Amino acid sequence: MSRTPDSAALLGWYDRHRRDLPWRAAAGVRPDPYCIWLSEIMLQQTTVVTVGPYFDRFVARWPDISALAAASLEEVLQLWQGLGYYARARNLHACARAVVDRYAGQFPEEPVQLRALPGIGDYTAAAIAAIAFGRREAAVDGNVERVMARLYAVADPLPAAKPRLRALAAGLVPQARAGDFAQAMMDLGATICTPRRPRCILCPWRACCKAAASGLQETLPVPAEKPERPLRYGVAFWLTRSDGAVLLRRRPQKGLLGGMTEIPSTPWRSEPWSLAEAVRLAPVAAVWSPLPGSVHHGFTHFRLELAILAGVGEADGLWSPVDRLGEHALPTLMKKLARHAVSAVVAGPQGNWTASDPNPGSSSANSGSVTSPAMARRTGAKDRR
Ligand code: SF4
Repeated sequence: MSRTPDSAALLGWYDRHRRDLPWRAAAGVRPDPYCIWLSEIMLQQTTVVTVGPYFDRFVARWPDISALAAASLEEVLQLWQGLGYYARARNLHACARAVVDRYAGQFPEEPVQLRALPGIGDYTAAAIAAIAFGRREAAVDGNVERVMARLYAVADPLPAAKPRLRALAAGLVPQARAGDFAQAMMDLGATICTPRRPRCILCPWRACCKAAASGLQETLPVPAEKPERPLRYGVAFWLTRSDGAVLLRRRPQKGLLGGMTEIPSTPWRSEPWSLAEAVRLAPVAAVWSPLPGSVHHGFTHFRLELAILAGVGEADGLWSPVDRLGEHALPTLMKKLARHAVSAVVAGPQGNWTASDPNPGSSSANSGSVTSPAMARRTGAKDRR
């Protein structure tokens, strides 16, 4: 076996062990650029196992890019529900329309043109160009960086080591079968050269791997230091009507969870909310009762703790029966919130605050925090029942 990594060894391994993935063309069959693009967008920050059913549903509903471009953003967001990172869904829709408008529904083959489309960065452009069009491009994501760091024993910590790892990967891409090589690298990183306990004994590059030779395979790559994600606080308003419907609203198109439907809430900030502050921002004047418990959710850059105030009232807006909330483009956080609110309403509220009376004198409840039910109880929430 060669002492320097070569593409033939990896391609031979890939021919025998390639994964059977819904978006992957059979050996010798020309890949469909639409399927490659759709899967690559879905796989950003998401696992193959999670993406599989979403990919199948999207392709069943919109079998080609023209069909997807003709769909409304709301339909796309709704089918995307639960996949997270919703900016991807908005970009997916915008990209489909751009490909139809600018390229008559045919994806361009050049990475530079691909990168100019919404939602397509360096990695995705390289992956599409290589897999769909056989371009000699290195698609380097975290998996491939890990393989390169181990193969060449690169001890520089990430992210500083990234340019070197990219250059090393680019140097291995063969003239022919560049698409298979890109997919082989992905499969190697996902199934053999895994983050923990790589299975070096089964690796086609075992004989030339510097990390494996020196027992460093589990310590490379040297990770970047992750800063602690800050905690933010918010208060959601679970407003129900006399017929049991719940008030919803649409988030702004730009920003976090852009365009998604949500249960109204205060802004999310680094300071816990006092009861008076939260009630002042309620969608209507009502008797607001804090529900027990709170909802926790992790975003990429922060963690969120949402307390819930429940009330009954009328307001202009989007209303939905509780049992039909699934028909709306609710992100995972909001589904969690709805489940929590429904079970907490059954369990019973903790106390009452009135939106029309946001400043209830010297009551100790006024200074209580609704982000922590325990704190709310300590600060006299029960007194205002
Ligand atoms: S030999 Fe082990 S550490 Fe080296 S590339 Fe293969 S799986 Fe990764």
